[in-house]
Amino acid sequence: MIIVLKSGTTREKVAELCGRLQQNYGVTANPIFGSESVVIGLVGDTSSIEVETLALDESVEKVMKVSEPYKRANRKFHPDDTVFRVGDADIGGRRICVIAGPCSVESEEQMIGIADHVKMSGALALRGGAFKPRTSPYAFQGLRAEGLLYLRKARERTGLPIVSEITNPSSLEMFMEHVDVIQVGARNMQNFELLKELGRIRRPILLKRGFSNTIEELLMSAEYIMSGGNDRIILCERGIRTFETSMRNTLDLSAIPMLKRLTHLPVFVDPSHACGLAWMVESLSKAAIAVGADGLEIEVHNDPKHALSDGQQSLTPEAFDDLMKHLRPVAESVGRTL
Ligand code: PEP
Ligand code: MN
Repeated sequence: MIIVLKSGTTREKVAELCGRLQQNYGVTANPIFGSESVVIGLVGDTSSIEVETLALDESVEKVMKVSEPYKRANRKFHPDDTVFRVGDADIGGRRICVIAGPCSVESEEQMIGIADHVKMSGALALRGGAFKPRTSPYAFQGLRAEGLLYLRKARERTGLPIVSEITNPSSLEMFMEHVDVIQVGARNMQNFELLKELGRIRRPILLKRGFSNTIEELLMSAEYIMSGGNDRIILCERGIRTFETSMRNTLDLSAIPMLKRLTHLPVFVDPSHACGLAWMVESLSKAAIAVGADGLEIEVHNDPKHALSDGQQSLTPEAFDDLMKHLRPVAESVGRTL
């Protein structure tokens, strides 16, 4: 349920109303002070609350029932875009934020070399998988803790914030020490015990859409994290499974405008995993920006042919530099910068 307050309602009045609602109905009242209005979002069992009774309060403009199962992630609860800072980037702001780096961390030299390159080309964060959730148990599983240390070294040298994927709640402490944005991969989007743990911290989360999950399921996974109190979440469309087999996945471009309408959270696109083909990354990146993505996550490798994972979809640092140059005018054409 959402209560829109009349303009000019004082903070004291908002606090008093929230306190009364919590006490009388056992719900959680979240006041959100937006640029245009103040709304109170009620979370919990609101079935005993009568809309007519609430509307009698002199500070209440209108009361709306929210039919969607996600509340905190809902744009109705939070009409303004969520914007938060990571390193030098305002995630969800006017500037498109590009996260770049290899699929897997392979060595210290590799990470330092790629970090230097992608920073020069304009990337705002460095990615690298240390714990790899591979489809085959015989495939490279990642350097694990050692990989996080190499990422940290690359951050010390370049200042780029680090994005890396967590696969298990037991490694959370290690991630809190070394990682600036914790990625939840497609395969773990509905690992609810992991999501609950990530709700307890205040570190930004990059939440990737599962390849067979609906937009509503993605938003419910964000809601799991937000219900614990962590509202710094980036949603990421990375391609879904369809009947098509010529690409690794099918990029669901329509998910971006739909998500931007349904939620206030920033929405990113990972074109690399969506198509699985390095030559297609540029066209999908342009399309993603054109339909409203707030950022991109792109795989870049110094030697794609010999990469330990996802070489076929990885750009060389030179190709990444060209890509960034070609994306700038597209960003400008939709009123963004890059
Ligand atoms: C990755 O980013 O390397 C990755 C494994 O992505 P996804 O979870 O989207 O498959
Ligand atoms: Mn990968």
